[in-house]
Amino acid sequence: MELRSVHDLPIIPIAYVQHKNPMWKRSSINKYTIAGRAEIHKNLKGINIDNLLYLMRNLISDRNIEYNDNRIALYAGQMGKCAITGRKLELSEIHCHHKKPRSLGGDDSYSNLKIIHIEVHKLIHATTKETIEKLLERLKLTDYQIGRINQMRKFCKLNPII
Ligand SMILES: [Zn+2]
Repeated sequence: MELRSVHDLPIIPIAYVQHKNPMWKRSSINKYTIAGRAEIHKNLKGINIDNLLYLMRNLISDRNIEYNDNRIALYAGQMGKCAITGRKLELSEIHCHHKKPRSLGGDDSYSNLKIIHIEVHKLIHATTKETIEKLLERLKLTDYQIGRINQMRKFCKLNPII
């Protein structure tokens, strides 16, 4: 398991806060940093720490370590925001989507996953006109965001919504 805590202080893989650093390699030896809360707050400025800790302590049991690790890394990497709408996500809204679905051979790699809003996720996979209209009404997306949803749908071999 890659997510642990020592004396109740979470150990956060450096990748979670530095994933954009091109020098970082997943196999690097200095993968972890043991940080006190003050240090975490400094490093993860703008991210909801309670949500992050909740995700770390509540792994998805029927998914593997890679999936769970990347789900948390992406939540931090995306600063707790939906990849499509840019909105800050409440804990109950956090969903993790496979760009290339597992049913089509997609894997659990960091680059194949995105953290998105639960209803955006439903919209990406929606197939009935009724559901699509209901979600569009609720989400009030821009044309650009709908375009991105349609890109995601294409990866899933689904027709564009508009
Ligand atoms: Zn999905």
